[in-house]
Amino acid sequence: MSSLANFDPEIADLIEKERLRQINGLELIASENVVSKAVLEAMGSIMTNKYAEGYPGKRYYGGCEFHDVAENLARDRMCRVFGAEHANVQPHSGSQANQAVYFAYLGYKDRILSQSLTQGGHLSHGSPVNITGRWYSIFHYGVDPETETLDYAAIEDLARMVRPQMIVCGASAYPREIDFRAFQEIADTVGARCMADIAHIAGLCATGYHNSPVGVVDIVTTTTHKTLRGPRGGAIMCSKEDAPTIDKSVFPGMQGGPLMHIIAAKAVCFKEAMTPAYKEYCGQIVKNSRAMARVLAEEGLDLVSGGTDNHLILLDLTRVSANHEHLTGLAAETALGEAGITVNKNTIPREQLSPFVTSGLRIGTPAVTSRGMKEKEMEQIANWIATVLKDIARDRTSKKAINEVREEVIALASKYPLYPEVA
Ligand code: PLP
Repeated sequence: MSSLANFDPEIADLIEKERLRQINGLELIASENVVSKAVLEAMGSIMTNKYAEGYPGKRYYGGCEFHDVAENLARDRMCRVFGAEHANVQPHSGSQANQAVYFAYLGYKDRILSQSLTQGGHLSHGSPVNITGRWYSIFHYGVDPETETLDYAAIEDLARMVRPQMIVCGASAYPREIDFRAFQEIADTVGARCMADIAHIAGLCATGYHNSPVGVVDIVTTTTHKTLRGPRGGAIMCSKEDAPTIDKSVFPGMQGGPLMHIIAAKAVCFKEAMTPAYKEYCGQIVKNSRAMARVLAEEGLDLVSGGTDNHLILLDLTRVSANHEHLTGLAAETALGEAGITVNKNTIPREQLSPFVTSGLRIGTPAVTSRGMKEKEMEQIANWIATVLKDIARDRTSKKAINEVREEVIALASKYPLYPEVA
């Protein structure tokens, strides 16, 4: 069989271009990371060739003996990393993990109470454009308009009114610590199940830099590719008692054959997550986020909720004026992208603009921290972000700051290769 470069030079060329983009830029998308060579190797392995419907010891296909061992390793390691009783590592994605939990416990049009998408929640928590918004009756809580943080008393009042069958906590764009115990207590008060989606902060929960919902709330879902720094995928953790229901809901309820190359890579990721180096990494993610937040605030930019407790910062651009209007998330994302700093536009509390434009910017530190950058580099990057935003706010067509920063970004990025040993 011929190599990728020989057989499909178009795709090989795109992969090379993407490699260069990643090497030469600064990835500040809060949900992204840089996996290890070991994770990459497992993902690109022949484990992808195999069908293994079912679970270890109970498959619908022959020849699964090594897959059984790999999946058991992934499950056991995940349980050890999080102190969970049971783990299902088969969900293909975070969204599918969430859907499997809903499918396990909810009927058509049952009520879900979750954080609204515009105030930090995720599509799979009941957005009207998502299957969850069509199949279930969705009610949302948001953040307090003054503090821009979760107000648990207000959420409890809402829960008493709505009487949901399920309360979902966890977010995609919330920079503060989430009190998972408070959510479970509210759920208990109204007889609901509580699901915590820790897709973003899983690594921080595993290493003690955020309180963990495992063993605290009924069910926990996550992705494995954000702060956990594993392959792209999902997972669910629950009690032994809930395990048969959850497993049945994932397969055969939601999915067919598991992605065994990804499950092998999840096992590698969980092994990495048990190391002292990974714990140190997670601590550094938070230190980096705080350092960046401090400089952005000193530069006069507004941070939603005034700061950060985790891996991300949400900038509120409504006071950055540009031609009688405020600078949009879209304009900011585009300009920073041209400067080699990848971020994403994001809605903010009290958002007035469409999700394609927005008034905010989400900035995260997991990927640059994986490259070895520390507080000093974060301060520098925060300065560059402020410089670019101020320049385009003054003149939307200006390329002055963008070009200057681009040069400096390339110089900084070259000092922190993605894979030092092969750079
Ligand atoms: N849950 C949360 C809180 C997320 O932020 C995300 C993705 O960003 C997901 C679920 C969905 O993960 P996936 O993209 O793997 O479906």
